[in-house]
This record gives sequence, structure tokens and C-alpha cells, in this order.
Amino acid sequence: MSVSIWQDRSNRHNLAEQCSDIIVIGGGIAGLSCAYWILQEDSELKVTLIEKGEVGDGATGRNAGFITCGSVEHFNRLVEKHGESEALEIWKFSETNLELLEEHLITGSEKELQFEKKGSFSLASTETEFQELKKSALLMQKLGIEVEVIEKSDIDSRLGARGFIGGIKYLGDASIHPMKLLDKMKEKLLSFKNFKLFENSEVFKINSVSQEKEVLTKGHRFKAPIVVLATNGYSALLHDYFKDKIYPTRGQILATSSVEKFMEGPCYANFVLDYFRQLPSGELVIGGFRQLQKDVEIGYSDETSDVIQNALEQFIQTHLPALSEADITHRWSGIMGFSVDGQPMVGAIPSDQQIYFLGGFTAHGLGLAFHGAKCLADILFDREIPSFISAKRF
Ligand SMILES: Cc1cc2nc3c(=O)[nH]c(=O)nc-3n(C[C@H](O)[C@H](O)[C@H](O)COP(=O)(O)OP(=O)(O)OC[C@H]3O[C@@H](n4cnc5c(N)ncnc54)[C@H](O)[C@@H]3O)c2cc1C
Repeated sequence: MSVSIWQDRSNRHNLAEQCSDIIVIGGGIAGLSCAYWILQEDSELKVTLIEKGEVGDGATGRNAGFITCGSVEHFNRLVEKHGESEALEIWKFSETNLELLEEHLITGSEKELQFEKKGSFSLASTETEFQELKKSALLMQKLGIEVEVIEKSDIDSRLGARGFIGGIKYLGDASIHPMKLLDKMKEKLLSFKNFKLFENSEVFKINSVSQEKEVLTKGHRFKAPIVVLATNGYSALLHDYFKDKIYPTRGQILATSSVEKFMEGPCYANFVLDYFRQLPSGELVIGGFRQLQKDVEIGYSDETSDVIQNALEQFIQTHLPALSEADITHRWSGIMGFSVDGQPMVGAIPSDQQIYFLGGFTAHGLGLAFHGAKCLADILFDREIPSFISAKRF
């Protein structure tokens, strides 16, 4: 948001002022998780969370609900880039993310959150990708990660999917209703007496005033010694530091009417670019095909495009016969934050050590952000974090 000199009321003496110990900007899974871990650490701290729309208006309320391990690419590529030991560390990091989510938020509320732990599949439609998946599976098995190779005939019977020649199943993955997860987090946060939430409050400026940070929205002047940016894809709009580090990248989805259950679990296809899953209530959610319009699928607009929406529909017609008669009920898009190297970034801005941040979840925030936010709290409380996630790597 740009604000004109006429709209900027920060110099008015009667602008509502709000003082806290820590301000978190961004009401997605990262921001809520940060506030949660900070308050777990010290419930006496005054934590204020500011969200420009409502909680969940960003990517977290618009994603497909996969809670998957690893990153945007097949495990063999992760090993090629990082070596076996760090690739395993990256995988384990997201495994711990799910364990933490279960321990702190999910256990006992599985039904309410539509949480299912049925693993996830990566499907190959070409021999080249199947070879790569099998290579990944061997590497993973060697490192003790639970994975199963799936042959063509099983794909048909277990997933109701046609046109794939093989795949692998990651046994530990899960899925969830992302908005219900956020609702649960919000409810927990609001039970802390020192937590304050400001929705419909877009931050347009962060100033330094004496030893403090002054965070301005049209209606408030917020003050705190520490600010955490959990604005992911939108981060570069608030601070130039992110311009060459976290790129706003659009993803599109559609959802169909409900059909009888036909899939064993959520699926990725085409080198993790496309994905689909059947919800517990029978609807199919399918997204991807960003590769068709890479130049358009950037920026901050959450429009949908005919090219990608048609490709999603075509995918259903080609690969998922159970849905041939289903109606399309929803089409939407959301803005993700892609980091330069595909791994999340947690740290402080080098030129301003009072502004911390976490972001760059590169399409995997549900699988990474809860643990990532714990790392942010680790930094605030002077503990080390894994180097692959630390922003110091840049
Ligand atoms: C179509 C799509 C499908 C996806 N599927 C999956 C999936 O299945 N599994 C998975 O793990 N990940 C998926 N992702 C990615 C996942 O949604 C993100 O990684 C995750 O939600 C990031 O969470 P976040 O809190 O960092 O960002 P967000 O949820 O985007 O939250 C950032 C918040 O900051 C707010 N904000 C921005 N600027 C300001 C400001 N100036 N003032 C105040 N507030 C501000 C925004 O309104 C927003 O609510 C998908 C994303 C999309 C778009």
C-alpha cells in the first residue's frame, strides 16, 4: 500500500498509540507461529500481531493443505545441492515441524482440523521422472526415511489416477484444513493475556525512533524495540532487503464438487510442480501449472488466469476419470514467497538488528513455518539455528 502525504496521519498527536515488547507483522501461519513460540518462551512479553486483512488472507488461507516434508524438489536433487547430511537435516526439519504441529495444535482436534496422516505421493508421467523418483527412494531408504516405490498398476487402483507410469509414496506426510489450523492458533494466542491482534491494519512504514521501532498503519502508531516481519511473499514491499531474496510468486488452484472417495492420499506430479488431493468431504483441490505462464505468475495480484485454470481442468479430464462429471466450485490464487535457494530464511536484517523476519517458504509453508518460527524464537533468545535456514547464509 502506498500512502499519500494527506493520508499519513502519523504526525497527528491523537493517533492511537500501542506499545509492546515485540510486534509481529503478518497474520499467516508464520506470523501466528512466531507469536505463539515467543509467548511459549515468556508469556509475560507483550506481543502485538498486525495483519493487513484478516488472519489467513495471505497464502496460508489459500493453499492446498499439504503438510509435506522436504522441499520443492525431489530428494536426489536436494542431495546433489546440499550433500546427504544436510539434505537429511532439511528433511528432518520438516518432519519435526509436523511433530510440533501435532503436539501443540492438532492432537485431539484431528477431526475439527480435517487432519489426515496418509502420506503423500509423487507421480511420474515420464520414464525420466520415474527413474529420478526411484533414485530418490533409494537414497531416502538408505538414510532411514520411510518411502515406498509405487508401480503403474497400483497408481490406478490406489489413487484412481491415469497416465502415470510410476511414483513414490512418502509415508510420513499429512494434510489439513489450513484455515481451521489458523483459527486454532488464533484461539490459543487470544488466550494469552499479553497478546493483541490488530486485523484490517496494513503497515505502511517502519521508522526508528530513539531505541524503538515505530510501526505505522493508517489508524495506529505501534511501538516496540523488536519487530518481526512474517510477510513472506509481500516482504519486499516493506523492506528493500528482500527485493533480491524473496520473490512474490503466484500459485493457482481450483476445487470441484464432492465425489465418492477414490484417492488414498495427496499427490504431486510433474517434478512437484502440480498437485492434487481429495478432501475428507470428497471435493478435489488441484493446483500448479505455474510453469505455463512463469512471466505472469509473479507479483501481488491474486487474480486467476484462463491459461492455468484451463490446464488444471484439462489435467482432471486426462488423469482423474472419477471427476469427469464434477463441477468446478472455486477458483483462486495466492502469493507465495520463493527464496533464492528454495530454503526458508530466518534472521535479522543486517542493517537493522531490531527487525527480524522469517519467510521464503517456497510453496511449503505448512511443512516448514511452525518449526521455522520456533527457530525465530531461538534467535531472539540467543540460541543457534540450523545454517540452511539461517539468513546469514546470504
Ligand atoms: C495456491 C497455493 C498453494 C499452496 N499449497 C501449499 C501446500 O499445499 N502446502 C504448503 O506447505 N504450502 C503451500 N503453499 C504455500 C504456503 O501457503 C505458504 O508457504 C505459507 O502460507 C506462508 O505462510 P506465511 O505466513 O509466511 O505467509 P502468508 O500466509 O502469505 O502471510 C503473510 C501475511 O502478511 C500479511 N501482510 C503482508 N503485508 C502486510 C503489511 N504491510 N501489513 C500487515 N500485514 C501484511 C498478508 O496479508 C498475509 O496475511 C501454497 C501457496 C499457494 C498460494
